[in-house]
Amino acid sequence: MSASNSGIVHLVGAGAGDLGLFTLRARELIAAADVLVYDYLVHPEAVKWTRPGCEVVYVGKKAGCHTVPQEEIEALLVKHAQAGKKVVRLKGGDPYIFGRGGEEARTLAKAGVAFEVVPGVTAALAAGAYAGIPLTFRNVSTSLVLLTGHEDPTKTGGTQVDWRGFGALKNTTLAIYMGMSRLAHILAELQAGGLAPDTPAAVVQWASLGRQRSVSGTVADLPARVAEAKLAAPAIIFIGEVVRDHEAIDWFEHLPLFGRRVAITRTRDQNSELREKLETLGAEVLELPLINITKDVDKHGFVEILAELGSYDWIVFTSANGVRYFFEEFLKGFKDIRALGLLRFACIGRATARAIESYHLRVECMPDTATGASLADALIETGSLDSAKVIVVTGNLNRDKLVKKLEAARAIVDRLPLYKTEKTDLSADPVADDFRQHGADAILFASSSAAESYHAQSASLKLAPDAKKPLVGSIGEQTTETLVEHGMKPHFIAAKPSLDALVSALIERLRATA
Ligand code: SAH
Repeated sequence: MSASNSGIVHLVGAGAGDLGLFTLRARELIAAADVLVYDYLVHPEAVKWTRPGCEVVYVGKKAGCHTVPQEEIEALLVKHAQAGKKVVRLKGGDPYIFGRGGEEARTLAKAGVAFEVVPGVTAALAAGAYAGIPLTFRNVSTSLVLLTGHEDPTKTGGTQVDWRGFGALKNTTLAIYMGMSRLAHILAELQAGGLAPDTPAAVVQWASLGRQRSVSGTVADLPARVAEAKLAAPAIIFIGEVVRDHEAIDWFEHLPLFGRRVAITRTRDQNSELREKLETLGAEVLELPLINITKDVDKHGFVEILAELGSYDWIVFTSANGVRYFFEEFLKGFKDIRALGLLRFACIGRATARAIESYHLRVECMPDTATGASLADALIETGSLDSAKVIVVTGNLNRDKLVKKLEAARAIVDRLPLYKTEKTDLSADPVADDFRQHGADAILFASSSAAESYHAQSASLKLAPDAKKPLVGSIGEQTTETLVEHGMKPHFIAAKPSLDALVSALIERLRATA
């Protein structure tokens, strides 16, 4: 059969662990896919790169359940490709290294389905880089062997790993995948083959992620150290002289937030930026999207304001979302930015200003403190409010304080509601479940509405008795006020209302308690 339609399967490596280890090609293909089929160990954030309407199929392990059988996955790939779909088959690490990617490629070839393979950073490479273990080293290790420790004990024939043979190799680094449940057996076999018991060895679990943990020792004492540290899969076992002195070049485990669990509470979209900042500093991030912001335009009001746009003096934005939604709607009507006339722009928050500036428009008024009240003060200070017409773009939270203050300064204010902020329900969310069971070192609030939502679902987010109680962090005045109102006085507050300042406050606070 020939590939008569344009369906194709991309076998794509997702890299091991950190989102930053995806290739550009992988990201491009995910963004263009009609169907995404992905595994356990693929960074879940990558699913957000899909376009709306992409069918997303998870075929990995679920708690207590088995994985989808391999034949079923292969049949699924063939079926979608033959229906003309662009399919991305996303696998952890590299698709051709212990990931059954080879089998999938063969099935596709046999079925006459077009396919492409995109390599990925395999776990051994990620683990070496993030744990201070160079996999080869001049005069010390001149070869690298990737091995699987997972073998079917019922299997007969020639596919068993020859551990004793590998134990006899000199100047070699061994990197063993899927070997944790048989660690003692594997090490004993390697020693039986001639591997010296004092050879340096290490285990790196969850490599390159905030929850990475590692232990090192010798081939003789590694099992005891692993048991003591309670390390388990997914992990890479390294054996060889290159493990020696890894502390000296271990940069990752020395990052300021390494080993810290931090819960973040913005919307799914907004969380990404904060997640990235925290992960770059080594943290393990738990995303609890406590709020959801959706466009909700009062069509009638919007048309009325647009018709009179030339008569307004100021337009006021309190969030980047407001800016985005305003321009989406405005450009639908006008298709020409000049229709804004001489409207002047005021806003709070750097992110809001950036959103306005992205349209090459100047922000003429922005207070240092990102509250509605200080925005009103700053506008009053311009001396331009008397009888001025002002549009205040709002969500369903009406910004009463701001509007009242402007009106008291004799401005004529029209509210323009463009979006609504809603509380989400996290009672069935797996990340929320992880939070409930294990807690976190800190939880960050970047808005009053997230604080409100947390309070509203405090029953379903209640921590288990032995979970770690998180320190509470607030981005600024209003958020702090709301937290205090609900009996959650913050342990640290950002010096100014920005994500960077919030992260700095977190680091300082954790350092002080360390
Ligand atoms: N194709 C994948 C390997 C799949 S087999 C790759 O190229 O990396 C699954 C095994 O990979 C796990 O049992 C573990 O040994 C290893 N692994 C995957 N991700 C890992 C990670 N972040 N840290 C350590 N080991 C990992």
